[in-house]
Amino acid sequence: MSLREHVDAIVVGSGFGGSVAAYRLAEAGLSVVVLERGRSYPPGSFARTPAQMSRAFWDPDARLYGMFDVWGFRGFDSVVASGLGGGSLIYANVLMRKDEHWFVREQPLPGGGYENWPVTRADLDPHYDAVEKMLGAVPYPLDHPVYAHTPKTRAMRDAAAELGLEWRLPPLAVSFAPAPGAEPGIGLPVETPSYGNLHGARRTTCRLCGECDIGCNDGAKNSLDHTYLSAAVHHGADVRTLHEVENIRPLPRGGYAVDYVRHRPDDPDAPREPVRTMTCDRLVLAAGTYGTVYLLLRNREAFPAMSGALGTRFSGNGDLLTFLLRATDRGRARPLDASRGPVITSAIRLPDDADGVPGAGRGGYIEDGGYPGFVDWMVEGADIGDVVARATRFLLERFTGFFASAPDTNLSRELSELIGSGALSVSSLPLLGMGRDVADGELRLRDGRLDAKWSVATSEAYFERLRKTMQRIADVLGADYADHPAWFRKRIITVHPVGGAPMGRHPGEGVCDPYGEVFGYPGLYIADGSIMPGPVGTNPALTIAAMADRMCSRLLAARHGVSPTGSGPASTGAGPAGRSGGKAMGDRGTAGARADRRAGRDRPSLSFTEEMKGFYRPGVRNPGSTGERFSFRLTITVDDVDRFLADREHLARAEGWIDAEACGGRRPIHRGWFNLFAPGGAPDRRLMRYRLYFADGEDRPRTLSGWKNVFHGPLTDIWPATTTLYFRILDGHVPEGEDDMAPIVGAGTLTIELADFVRQLASFRAEGPGGLAALHRFAKFFAGNLWEIYGPGVD
Ligand SMILES: Cc1cc2nc3c(=O)[nH]c(=O)nc-3n(C[C@H](O)[C@H](O)[C@H](O)COP(=O)(O)OP(=O)(O)OC[C@H]3O[C@@H](n4cnc5c(N)ncnc54)[C@H](O)[C@@H]3O)c2cc1C
Ligand code: SF4
Repeated sequence: MSLREHVDAIVVGSGFGGSVAAYRLAEAGLSVVVLERGRSYPPGSFARTPAQMSRAFWDPDARLYGMFDVWGFRGFDSVVASGLGGGSLIYANVLMRKDEHWFVREQPLPGGGYENWPVTRADLDPHYDAVEKMLGAVPYPLDHPVYAHTPKTRAMRDAAAELGLEWRLPPLAVSFAPAPGAEPGIGLPVETPSYGNLHGARRTTCRLCGECDIGCNDGAKNSLDHTYLSAAVHHGADVRTLHEVENIRPLPRGGYAVDYVRHRPDDPDAPREPVRTMTCDRLVLAAGTYGTVYLLLRNREAFPAMSGALGTRFSGNGDLLTFLLRATDRGRARPLDASRGPVITSAIRLPDDADGVPGAGRGGYIEDGGYPGFVDWMVEGADIGDVVARATRFLLERFTGFFASAPDTNLSRELSELIGSGALSVSSLPLLGMGRDVADGELRLRDGRLDAKWSVATSEAYFERLRKTMQRIADVLGADYADHPAWFRKRIITVHPVGGAPMGRHPGEGVCDPYGEVFGYPGLYIADGSIMPGPVGTNPALTIAAMADRMCSRLLAARHGVSPTGSGPASTGAGPAGRSGGKAMGDRGTAGARADRRAGRDRPSLSFTEEMKGFYRPGVRNPGSTGERFSFRLTITVDDVDRFLADREHLARAEGWIDAEACGGRRPIHRGWFNLFAPGGAPDRRLMRYRLYFADGEDRPRTLSGWKNVFHGPLTDIWPATTTLYFRILDGHVPEGEDDMAPIVGAGTLTIELADFVRQLASFRAEGPGGLAALHRFAKFFAGNLWEIYGPGVD
């Protein structure tokens, strides 16, 4: 007998790979739980004050639960993110495809061995398309009058033209316009997509503040929480923040167990919570390069067949940070305004031998950097009064800490000295380089902690080429060139760590196959930067997301091939029928629902999310208003609005979870049905019925059978009648009409709190042709029924 929660798929981490996987798998009808160690960051919640900034780092041992996870290894420093949406919270929004010829085949490496990509650009192109669309990727609108004055972008374009290099405006996942294809403008309200927004927060278009790398408080970044994760939640994924995975292992009869802890940052006195365990059929590791490789190394004994390639092919994707200082034009300061615009707007491309340019060397990109406006005055800090200078030093330290925070490196002071005093801010610009360095690094454990072995030695020719080109850009712009201080010790700072669990053609070459499935462990997938068998060369997030999308297509196709026949959907017109006393139905029960959803795409559909909370008593028959806490969160979906309205029973699909200690914690709904205003046996009586199948903590099938009684009375009864749900928990999966014969496990009452009701209203979404009109018809139906029941004509 198992006390564990079991789902179809667990996704560890919610960055580019994890979010895509969560959405694709939930959308296909699998029960999905996402375990993310960091917090959720709605717009407006990102740290800005010095006090907030000082807590914005990730180190739970020091009770720090912030967004910046800073690593200092021997040859390099690195920054990654912790939070719902992973790196998308702090990244610079650039979504670039890996160049076609950079998917090299068996290319010899300087130190021996070779680099080999078992996928091609053609394999990824359809997935690149899908991700770009979902993330709303558009180039910086430089030609539009509002954005035309962005000096750094123009300077990069001028420099590239002068040097004969290719320059481009890469796609950025930023909302410059309120909706795709609409006229761009600053600070306009962004239209909420049909799948809603998990924060339920207002978003506005980009205001060019340069704060992208410290979190966008306007919600203008189309980060993963606003896009893939919101869509995943809409499709029933259960996303849990502050849940950190510690251990993983395969189960003897298939599937995987995952041990995790919950963090409670808001309660400083809280003792460490006990380790909990969940199980799943498929486990997707998407904890980022460091997170995933650390988990696999730490649990290596549980995976004896794991490839010896674990830890190999690591690199920093050729990252190099440098600065242009004091740009001039005809003897006067040339404005570059690094603080105007998103952090990155344009890219200069350095060709590669692999492009058919012999002697070019290893290729790369140089992009304009940016920083928040408040850093401008920090840059001038050395010249101003004591108090401000102190604040300046503090903030500058924090800011540069995003790029490097090795304990022995006080970059702020060095950088401050480099910059010197004077009117610098306007004529200075960080340059961000990246490209095809040599992926011969290794991630491993040292004293139980993650350690990395990597140096610039074998990549020196590449880095020298990048630095020389940056110096030439500086010359063209009449600027001084400055290396990052760490370069003097041949250290680099990477924000793009990749590799460590590389894909390959066989276990001798890689940890996972070209789809991310781990060799020797069916159902164990890796979907993050660690599967790259070499540097991406461009900014890697889009490639990580596209590979995750491709992985899911294969996973779902394979699953369809072997999928047991489902007994039919919980869709409109087909109610719950046939008793199922077996164990959790998992994805079997949703196969038909998926088909129905696909079929329903040419018809208007709508959905909304309902959260109810209340009390439950085991062992009683009649619902009362006291007992143990009980809640549920359901997404109700009407696949075909017209069919729903015409149907006497007004039946819709319900997905989501219930949460109650007595039932074993949070339990996913395996199948669920909802009837809105079904006939109640009298003209002035209607029923809202809920039937939810789930399995409790001991894997016993259970049914929540609930009803809201809506019958004639004073108008003041509308609120309690429509927001109070009485329910029983029944043993087994009990079909409609058989409640009386089923053993009762307990009963309770749930209500909707006002705040949840407001959220519910905001969650209504219509999809498909004529969606808005369908929403209108639905609203009329709802109001009409209330009128029929409570209106003056009924007595
Ligand atoms: C300042 C900065 C700017 C950047 N700009 C760009 C850019 O413009 N374009 C681009 O392509 N890339 C950019 N990047 C890089 C990009 O953010 C990463 O390449 C990308 O986020 C990696 O995606 P991923 O899925 O591998 O992992 P991540 O996005 O890092 O997500 C991993 C997630 O897993 C969670 N996690 C880790 N361990 C555990 C655990 N044990 N249990 C539960 N959860 C866990 C983490 O909290 C995190 O949320 C930038 C990065 C930084 C730091
Ligand atoms: S520039 Fe400012 S508003 Fe625009 S995406 Fe970046 S942080 Fe958001």
